[in-house]
Amino acid sequence: MTFEEIKNDEQKYMMHTYGRFQTAIVSGKGATAKDVSGKEYIDFTSGIGVNCLGYCDDGWVKAVSSQVSAVQHISNLYYSPLQTEVSKKICELTGMDKVFLCNSGAEANECAIKIARKYSFDKYGEDRQKILTLVNSFHGRTVTTLAATGQDVFHNFFFPFTEGFDYVTANDICDLESKISDEVCAVFIELIQGEGGVMPLSQEFVDAAEKICKEKDILLMIDEVQTGVSRTGTVYCYEQYGIKPDVVTSAKGLGGGVPIGACLCNEKLSDVMTAGTHGTTFGGNLIACAAAREVLSRVTTKAFLEEVCRKGDYIREKLTAMPNVKEVRGKGMMIGIVTEKDNAKEIAGKCVENGLLILTAKTLLRLLPPLNISYEEIDKGLAVLSGVMSGD
Ligand SMILES: *Cc1c(COP(=O)(O)O)cnc(C)c1O
Repeated sequence: MTFEEIKNDEQKYMMHTYGRFQTAIVSGKGATAKDVSGKEYIDFTSGIGVNCLGYCDDGWVKAVSSQVSAVQHISNLYYSPLQTEVSKKICELTGMDKVFLCNSGAEANECAIKIARKYSFDKYGEDRQKILTLVNSFHGRTVTTLAATGQDVFHNFFFPFTEGFDYVTANDICDLESKISDEVCAVFIELIQGEGGVMPLSQEFVDAAEKICKEKDILLMIDEVQTGVSRTGTVYCYEQYGIKPDVVTSAKGLGGGVPIGACLCNEKLSDVMTAGTHGTTFGGNLIACAAAREVLSRVTTKAFLEEVCRKGDYIREKLTAMPNVKEVRGKGMMIGIVTEKDNAKEIAGKCVENGLLILTAKTLLRLLPPLNISYEEIDKGLAVLSGVMSGD
């Protein structure tokens, strides 16, 4: 099949929900992807932060394929030692008390929202169900997580949206204080807004949010769907802010390329969700759990995390010296680049033509390379980017 044939069939048979780059990927190894014509690309995207160990990592392939030939799925009507092992591991890594396993970031966030509302309903009754999120946030594409997303462009067409969300300007403590009321049950935030343009929150704002939440028994919930699983140099980004959230959500990198999400809660909330209040058919799927077990055992060691920081610093340093770079921000291997010429979309398209896969977020270029990318691949990718940035 040629690229043109694939593109035609995509137009003919798939709903037109995505704007795509002009390539069709068929295989990959490490941080190198291959398209249908055999052309190779350095991948600075990890499938939007998903393939944290790159394409077809040997250990990951072994973990997934041996699970496929043992048992693929059992439903949540039965116990599984693999599910419990993954759950124990993620609780021990985070110091959280309990986990609900699901299939995506939006679902993990739905679970968080349900926990917040049920905790408050059980303890305070009906009129305390408002959740504060941030302007410019992104929390998912279900009707409720769209409502949670603090961007007007997402609040369209699909009316009525779920009620009970209000939006605080990021890093504006006064705005936060003014929106706290007796109706608020949770504050739900990304620590580095990913889709919103790699925008880190200030320590002061996060500290203030934690303090207010603690005083008023409002839940502090952190959406780590993009920042989690060692992406920012610690297993979860909240560790770097020195806070203790009530709820943490995770997905993207958690399965290294298979769909899995997780919603974690602390001890205070451990009995909020009871039998029958939540569930999902695929949640804790065994292939996904085998993948997550491998990912969590690999990316959470001290040596691995140090390497993520070192490579992130290396990339940032090289980027800062590149033409057309105005600002570089983010933490670890979650990196945003503001361009002088404000031409991120155009640059990303040209990078693909020249053998580099790269993301954008709002008006920025965004890099989410595999966490174990080699220096050789980093240099190759940066050379392409540098060429495109200088307009060669
Ligand atoms: C990607 C993302 C989501 C949505 O995850 P899906 O798996 O696409 O449902 C939610 N929150 C953040 C911060 C994300 O980056």
